[in-house]
Amino acid sequence: MNYTNSKKKKNLLYKSTRNAEKTVTASEAILKGLAEDGGLFVPAEIPKLDVTMEELKDMSYQETAYAVMKQFLTDFTEEELKYCIDRAYDEKFDTETIAPLAKVGDTYYLELFHGATIAFKDMALSILPHLLTTAAKNNNVTKDIVILTATSGDTGKAALAGFADVPGTRIIVFYPKDGVSRVQELQMVTQKGKNTSVVAIHGNFDNAQSGVKALFEDKELERELNTAGYQFSSANSINIGRLVPQIVYYVYAYAKLVQNGEIKTGEQINVTVPTGNFGNILAAYYAKQMGVPIDKLICASNENKVLFDFFRTGEYDRNREFILTSSPSMDILISSNLERLIYSIAGQDAEKNTELMRQLKEEGCYKITAEMRKKLNDFEGGYATEEETKTEICETYRSTGYVMDTHTAVAAHVCRTYREKTGDNKKMLVISTASPYKFTKSVMTAIDETNNTMEESALFDGLKKISGMEIPDAIEEIRNAEILHTGECGVDKMKETVRKILGIEV
Ligand SMILES: *Cc1c(COP(=O)(O)O)cnc(C)c1O
Repeated sequence: MNYTNSKKKKNLLYKSTRNAEKTVTASEAILKGLAEDGGLFVPAEIPKLDVTMEELKDMSYQETAYAVMKQFLTDFTEEELKYCIDRAYDEKFDTETIAPLAKVGDTYYLELFHGATIAFKDMALSILPHLLTTAAKNNNVTKDIVILTATSGDTGKAALAGFADVPGTRIIVFYPKDGVSRVQELQMVTQKGKNTSVVAIHGNFDNAQSGVKALFEDKELERELNTAGYQFSSANSINIGRLVPQIVYYVYAYAKLVQNGEIKTGEQINVTVPTGNFGNILAAYYAKQMGVPIDKLICASNENKVLFDFFRTGEYDRNREFILTSSPSMDILISSNLERLIYSIAGQDAEKNTELMRQLKEEGCYKITAEMRKKLNDFEGGYATEEETKTEICETYRSTGYVMDTHTAVAAHVCRTYREKTGDNKKMLVISTASPYKFTKSVMTAIDETNNTMEESALFDGLKKISGMEIPDAIEEIRNAEILHTGECGVDKMKETVRKILGIEV
């Protein structure tokens, strides 16, 4: 009796950042996406890795994914998790290693853009549909799940690709009409699949994200959906099912650095992450808490530098101009996942967090206490201007031949200035979040100003020539694809649009 008990897997429960009482299982948290009180689900504690670096260094990406995810998703069976992992990380990726490391000068770039839609969102959105359908089955959900998603450009396509024609699901994506790159927009509006809908909103990403969150909290809409046989879930990084798969590549990258002899087991490294909604860097923070020897987490912003200011002053203030930059996936003033960090540094105090989030919603700003600030020592903030981003792309190409996208360039610049400022020479991992092909025009113009006058499509071949990288299938696909989605709506019409798409009469 005792023996079986002690062998029994620990069941990790999840709490809302705005409610101290209620707990849910991992699969319930994934199904719901957002808690009913508007909070985000967080694990009651961050589990430790239960395998050694010695074991990890020889593991494939898929094996690493299992070793990490089983610690978080404790109500999935081994068979279920492995089934999801095997279907996610397969030939959709153009390399068997899934997340390769490129050593450029004295920096390691972790390339997370080798999936179907050539941005890092594929790392989590290749597996989320499988996690979600498994969770639905295990929780006896009979309703169709409607994935409601706001996108700054990359989540939209990755979610559409993941959920297209998945039985029992519908997906609706809202993107900012003038706030995404041409390639990003084409990727979305040419999406096939009977269950997919794409709508351009007349507003920016923050409008889209706040609008989607409001729909989640809308009780009237929830009743209507219920009657029509639907329930909402989210593919945004507010869904814990997005964050957990993102922890995997930090563990994997560290283990590969050990295996390749670049670092010794236990040696501390730093990580620079190009940040928008604070999901990717939060996953790095969780990896650190699981036991990966990461010292500094360097948060890189573009000119929308709310996070840089926050780490510098302890005050989060979104009352400022929203700037459209050449790294549109980071054009965000309300970084949703920061709420999970705030909750954590408030000592998991849901009440304190709720109050700060109320201030953010009503006044657009809040200030954390000195005590909370002390717990932010793991983090550093930095930012790159448009000019600095361009220079980074151009200089790196000229001196090394490596071509990076605009988002990665923001991180590369911040990494460089961090090193110069601090003299900290620990090994550095820079997270490379998109293929340069996704932002061909900006990248090619940064390298040669005269490319400015050329059509983006004409520049693909030029990029191939200078980078030596094959043109990805994702680009070939959109070159002649038919436009299938032309819907647009105002920010105040999102609810009606959802009703119309789902055929709900009121
Ligand atoms: C989404 C995205 C980011 C920002 O990631 P967050 O998890 O939102 O911080 C950075 N770069 C690219 C290319 C992205 O698509």
